[in-house]
Amino acid sequence: MNKINYQKELDKVIEMLQREDRVPKLLMHSCCAPCSSYCLSYLAQYFHITVYYYNPNITESAEYQKRVAEQQRLLKELPVRYPVSFVEGEYEPEVFLSMAKGMEELPEGGERCFACYELRQRKAAQYAVSHGFDYFTTTLSVSPHKNAAKLNEIGLLLAQEYGIPYLVSDFKKKGGYLKSIELSGIYDLYRQDYCGCAYSKAAREREKQQKEQGITQHQIKETE
Ligand code: SF4
Repeated sequence: MNKINYQKELDKVIEMLQREDRVPKLLMHSCCAPCSSYCLSYLAQYFHITVYYYNPNITESAEYQKRVAEQQRLLKELPVRYPVSFVEGEYEPEVFLSMAKGMEELPEGGERCFACYELRQRKAAQYAVSHGFDYFTTTLSVSPHKNAAKLNEIGLLLAQEYGIPYLVSDFKKKGGYLKSIELSGIYDLYRQDYCGCAYSKAAREREKQQKEQGITQHQIKETE
């Protein structure tokens, strides 16, 4: 079966909106300032965007506060065609932790992450439908570590369930990920080196340790 190119599907939606001379209201779930930088610079040319910051997966409160502050700072500094609003969802890490029960040891990119996508996208769908938005979406597909096909599959199922269109995406196409790194540099954004939950942080720390041990062993061999 041919893989769907969701960037091309998004292009079609934008072309249709331009033909109809419409600028709809889009609720954009954002995972963090760096990922949202590219999505905003791209989509705020075509939509009235509200950034929806709902990320109970960031299990450490200090880290959550740091990321949400960066998101708000970026919105003040990033020039956009149509002004962007901001809504912070409830910070409820206990909801994430109870969802992740039994999946703590799964590797990043597996079932725990799919459930984590759904948790956040579902909240965005609920907010979008109860506040009269025309579309909802998420910035998550900009990251090469996230499964764009799964994100779109979940988004489209939620669209059916809640009766609101999901704006499909694969933001990493057309160089979106690289542009987000470039914009993060321009706006000096805090770029975390792990996804968000305590499990992803522990995995990243293990990787770093293994790398350091590898380097040390390599150095020992070289001096032998
Ligand atoms: S690694 Fe990221 S996407 Fe996966 S469960 Fe943790 S926070 Fe969610």
